[in-house]
Amino acid sequence: MQDLRNRFREIEMNEETLHGVDAREKITWIKPEIVCEVLYQSLTKDGKLRMPRFSRLRTDKPTNECTIDQVKPTHLQEYESKRDFKVSPEPKGDDAKGDGRIFVVQEHHARRLHYDLRLEKDGVLKSWAVPKGLPMNPGEKRLAIEVEDHPLDYSNFEGTIPSGQYGAGTVKIWDRGTYEFKVWNDDMIEFMPKGQTLEGRYILARFKKAGKKQWLLFKAKS
Ligand code: MN
Repeated sequence: MQDLRNRFREIEMNEETLHGVDAREKITWIKPEIVCEVLYQSLTKDGKLRMPRFSRLRTDKPTNECTIDQVKPTHLQEYESKRDFKVSPEPKGDDAKGDGRIFVVQEHHARRLHYDLRLEKDGVLKSWAVPKGLPMNPGEKRLAIEVEDHPLDYSNFEGTIPSGQYGAGTVKIWDRGTYEFKVWNDDMIEFMPKGQTLEGRYILARFKKAGKKQWLLFKAKS
C-alpha cells in the first residue's frame, strides 16, 4: 500500500479524470496510467461489479487495452441476482466442474410442487420447471417452463431454501445421471438421459403459441 501511495502521489491530478463517478466521499484523482486487475463475483444488471477486490498490478498491460467490454455478464448473472447467498444454502457456483453431460431432476416443494429438469450445456445447467413431473410413457406431453441457467454444482443440491427467498421450500434430487443428445437447437432438444429412473429418448420442443419460455416435453417411442 505504501508503494502504491508513493506511485499515486507522482501522478495526482487536480481535476476529474473519470466522469460520471458516484462520489460520496472525497476523491483523489490520478492520471489513469497504472493498470490493476480486479476480481469480482458478477455484474449487476446496471453493469456494476459485485464484490470487487484488488488482485494485483499489471505492468504488462497498456491502459488502452483496458476496456469495458472485457467485463462481460456471466451466464449465471440472473441466477445470482435472484438469490441472497447469505440466507440461501444454494450453491454460488464458484468452483463447479462437470463432465459435460450431467442431467438432474429435482423435486422442488416450493409454493407449488414442480420438478426441475436440468441439462449441462456450455458450463451451466440449462433448466426447465415441469409442473406435472417428467412423462414416463411415450405420448404423454408435459408443459416445461424455461428458467434461468443454474451453476453445475446445483446438480448435487438438496436442502431447504428459507421462506422469503426465491424458490422457498425443499429441494430433493429425484433422479440424476448423464445424458447424450442428438439434437440441440433453439427450438428443439432431443436427449437421452441415463439415470436411476429416467431412460429412453426425450424431446423438448418450443411451444411458441403458449409463450416465450414455454416448451413441451415428451417421451419419444424408442
Ligand atoms: Mn424450482
